[in-house]
Amino acid sequence: MAKFIGAHVSAAGGVENAPVNAHKIGAKAFAFFTKNQRQWKAAPLKEESIQLFKERCEELGFDMNNILPHDSYLINLGHPEEEGLTKSRDAFLDEMQRCEQLGINRLNFHPGSHLNKIPIDACLDRIAESINIALEQTKGVTAVIENTAGQGTNLGHTFEQLAHIIDKVEDKSRVGVCIDTAHTLAAGYEIRTEESFQQTFKSYDNIVGFNYLKGMHINDSKKEVGSRVDRHDSIGKGVMGMKLFEMIIKDDRFNNMPLILETPIEDLWAEEIEMLYKMR
Ligand SMILES: [Zn+2]
Ligand SMILES: [Zn+2]
Repeated sequence: MAKFIGAHVSAAGGVENAPVNAHKIGAKAFAFFTKNQRQWKAAPLKEESIQLFKERCEELGFDMNNILPHDSYLINLGHPEEEGLTKSRDAFLDEMQRCEQLGINRLNFHPGSHLNKIPIDACLDRIAESINIALEQTKGVTAVIENTAGQGTNLGHTFEQLAHIIDKVEDKSRVGVCIDTAHTLAAGYEIRTEESFQQTFKSYDNIVGFNYLKGMHINDSKKEVGSRVDRHDSIGKGVMGMKLFEMIIKDDRFNNMPLILETPIEDLWAEEIEMLYKMR
């Protein structure tokens, strides 16, 4: 009972539609965008939408601990230039505040990119500072850093980089990590066999810590280990194989947190969720 599996569902027409869409596919957890992810600015959430969102989550049995919204892909909290950095920090604060309004306690984001203009460590410091600024101005929402595939100049593809950021965040009680299975493999961590799975998560625990794990993205990958290319695939359709998913579902370390599918074929989500639940 302790596994909460879902998908990144649509919130088209208003955030209040996200829990409905999640319920339709048999999800017990979900992710969504609290605003259009391709635009910098969005109208504030309407009071009516906020109320409906909360009511529907309660009615449909979604616990706030199993809801993991994702921020806009435009945001770069480690932006090397002043203008881009300010814009990103403002947009991130807005997203944190939207979560606050909705009663959501965590927000997932990709750490940031150095764009070949500043050193890696300076960029990681900037990301931590961006998180500090947002945490200072909000209450009750944890900033959840996602590990990345390390495509282009994206940071957060090694456990050491995640630890570097966390180390410089002042309020450690409100920073967390989301591990994406496809990103982990693409970043160069083998996880497909019992031995490599145990080894990789042992290393995650030593370097970052399971206490920071606030969610998982459960994706197959079209690209091989170490490719540094971020291409999700449907469960069982990519290079991952089924064993990894079985190991996650049977492992108590991944209990009581949102396990979110970001797989490319929406029509398969209900089936994928059912298949994962059957692995218990
Ligand atoms: Zn992801
Ligand atoms: Zn991805």
